[in-house]
Amino acid sequence: MTENIINHFIAGKYCAGDHQRFGEVFDPANGRPQAKVPLDSSTEVEQAVAAARAAFPAWAGTTALNRARVLFRFKQIMDERREIMARVITAEHGKTLEDASGEITRGIEVVEFACGIPELLKGGFSQDVGRGVDCHDLRQPLGVVAGITPFNFPAMVPMWMYPVAIACGNTFILKPSEKDPGASLLAAEWLREAGLPDGVFNVVQGDREAVDALLQHPLVAAISFVGSTPVARHIYSAGCAAGKRVQALGGAKNHMVVLPDADINGAADALMGSAYGSAGERCMAISLAVAVGTTGDALVDALRTRIAGLRVGPGTDPTVQMGPLVTAEHRKRVRDYIDIGVSEGATLVCDGRELVVPDHAAGFYLGPTLFDNVQASMRIYQEEIFGPVLGVVRVPDFAAAIELVNAHPFGNGVAIFTRDGGNARTFSHAVHAGMVGVNVPIPVPMAFHSFGGWKASLFGDHHIHGPEGVRFYTRLKTITTRWPGDKQLKSEFVMPVLK
Ligand code: NAD
Repeated sequence: MTENIINHFIAGKYCAGDHQRFGEVFDPANGRPQAKVPLDSSTEVEQAVAAARAAFPAWAGTTALNRARVLFRFKQIMDERREIMARVITAEHGKTLEDASGEITRGIEVVEFACGIPELLKGGFSQDVGRGVDCHDLRQPLGVVAGITPFNFPAMVPMWMYPVAIACGNTFILKPSEKDPGASLLAAEWLREAGLPDGVFNVVQGDREAVDALLQHPLVAAISFVGSTPVARHIYSAGCAAGKRVQALGGAKNHMVVLPDADINGAADALMGSAYGSAGERCMAISLAVAVGTTGDALVDALRTRIAGLRVGPGTDPTVQMGPLVTAEHRKRVRDYIDIGVSEGATLVCDGRELVVPDHAAGFYLGPTLFDNVQASMRIYQEEIFGPVLGVVRVPDFAAAIELVNAHPFGNGVAIFTRDGGNARTFSHAVHAGMVGVNVPIPVPMAFHSFGGWKASLFGDHHIHGPEGVRFYTRLKTITTRWPGDKQLKSEFVMPVLK
């Protein structure tokens, strides 16, 4: 069998490069390696920057309307071929096909938003700011921009970035996760087919070496990053030190507060999907349930029953609700956290460690796991696990729940389940997190709003996509104009004050 090696996509063409270091892409459902991905790619970063730089003037000079037309065609192609991309995602990441299709839909919504770019770039105009003087402002693209993305949403997270970036007139280099790079190459091919000029969108495979080459490259004007907090922190500080604009979205540990007046069955159903969907490998997954007052026992009982019925298996099986983890290494890391939780004294209500999926013994599976009586001092409370592990923390009252959430180092998403509008409002205003759900467990903002967390979940000033994305990928310019006709202009030696 010939070895399947994943390529780069630079200046409208696939290229293999000359590499010494490779990573492995697995099929997590059966544990088999299926392709190799090049890792030592600083040469390809150089080529991609050159291609993107060369393509920039013509693309920035293309009217916003014509840039939008390319995106309209791309959206249509994505709609028609979503199943092809979903299959690639499931084969490399492990999530169910339906979930993969869902992330593609959320990505397409950003393309739909970016199709409105002529309206989004419209500036303001003030007539007669002084006698015979007008003022207007406009937003211009930055140049070559780069996106570095995580494994858990191989289609959607890059699509939080590149549709908006290229709609604004930038050219783009994507460095996808080396664990599941396939979806980005399909996007590159389909963008080209939609009429995107060569060099406007490039994909460079790789790991830290490629990222560092992007961070240090003087022609890269901005970096969007989504991934774990330690890497986000590094990207933010190194990118800013190199004079770039940076938005770096990090990890998460999302709480769902369940008040005593909530519908406990509804809250338990919501927790099941948000804790165990995509095997907990979502930055908006709920990994902590905060049971307020007397809700703890009923909530844990409702979860225990539901967990017993959860179907785990390969993502291609339409009856399966939760697939495997992305790699054996990641599964070990999550398993180790379950061991840690036990040794820290949390009550292990459901233990996913011994799960074996029939006919898929070598797949990277881990069953849904539930801890009760988790304490704020424990590592399983403080640290991001990023797997199918849910912890229940019991607190005496509503005030203690808010205090607990606000003291946590992460602040990505948070949810409250209640029937009391006043408490929901108080919570929404007081809580320290970037995205809040009221009886909505995973409050991922739609494409025409913006997505982002607080505290250790985001470094930088801008959230991603939506109006914040347009601001991030453009520079503001303000132009003040006078047409004096045959009137003589005089020298002025004081600060100009328009009369
Ligand atoms: P990761 O941080 O390991 O990798 C993300 C990207 O950074 C990859 O492209 C990887 O190649 C690169 N990278 C890894 N180590 C690096 C290093 N030392 N220097 C430079 N680049 C490096 O993250 P992951 O495991 O792929 O994804 C899971 C993480 O992403 C979780 O922490 C999750 O919460 C987070 N995430 C956050 C959001 C959000 O919106 N805040 C969304 C999705 C995922």
